[in-house]
Amino acid sequence: MKITFLGTSHGVQAADRYCQSILVETEKGGYLIDAGAPVMDCLIRLNFDLRKLKAVFITHSHNDHMDGIFGLLSLPLWYYTQMDFDVFLPEQKAIGCICGYLQLSGGLKPSDRVRLHTVEGREVYQDDEMAVSAFGTGHIKGRPAYGYLLEAEGKKLYISGDLDGETIDYPAFLEETAVDAFVVECAHFSAERLVKRLENCKARRVIVVHVWPVANYDILRRAAAGLPGDLILPNDGEIVMI
Ligand SMILES: [Zn+2]
Ligand SMILES: [Zn+2]
Repeated sequence: MKITFLGTSHGVQAADRYCQSILVETEKGGYLIDAGAPVMDCLIRLNFDLRKLKAVFITHSHNDHMDGIFGLLSLPLWYYTQMDFDVFLPEQKAIGCICGYLQLSGGLKPSDRVRLHTVEGREVYQDDEMAVSAFGTGHIKGRPAYGYLLEAEGKKLYISGDLDGETIDYPAFLEETAVDAFVVECAHFSAERLVKRLENCKARRVIVVHVWPVANYDILRRAAAGLPGDLILPNDGEIVMI
C-alpha cells in the first residue's frame, strides 16, 4: 500500500502545505481520504492515472477537508469522461451543497460514473482489493465526522480525521490491534496530550499530520523515542509505503 500525502496542513494552508488530503494506492486502485488540497491539480501533477481512482472518503464537512472536491467532481463530468468512482460524504447536507455547485458550474449533476453517497453504518466500501470501514468521532458537536480504516493487500491503515479536542477520541481497537499505520491529527489538543494518549497505541507507524501550532512538531520529535511505534511527520508530497 502506497500513501502519498497531498496536503498535510492544519485548518489553514501554508506556503508549502495544502490542507488535508491523502492518496492511498494499491496495485490496481487509488483512494482519496479528504479533499482539502486542490486534489485534481495534485493528481495531475503526480501523473496519477485518473482512471485508477475508485473512491473518495471525506472525514467531515469542514472546508480544510473538502475544498478540493469541487474540481475533483466537476472535471470528470465533462472532460475526464473515463473516470468512474464513488464518493462518500459524512452527511446529506454535503451532497446538497455539492449538487448545487455542480449545477451552478455547468449544469452538471452526479452520474452513473461519479456516484455520491452518505456514510451509513460501519462497512462503507468494498471492492476486490480494498475494504473501508467508518468510525465516528465527536469532532463536530451534533454533526457526523469519521475516521476510516482501510484494509487491502494484507495491510491495515487507519486515518483519524479530526477528533474531539477533549477526549482525542480515536477508536479503542488501535490499542488492541497492531495496524500497519495510523495517521492522526494534532491540531485540536496539545502534542503532549497526544503523546500521552499514544502510549498504549499498538500501531507500527504513527504518522502525524494536521499539526497546529507548528511548535508541536518539535514536541513530537522529542517524544518519538518514547512511542511504541515509528513516528513519521510527513511534508506535502511525501510517500510512505506500508
Ligand atoms: Zn481539519
Ligand atoms: Zn475539522
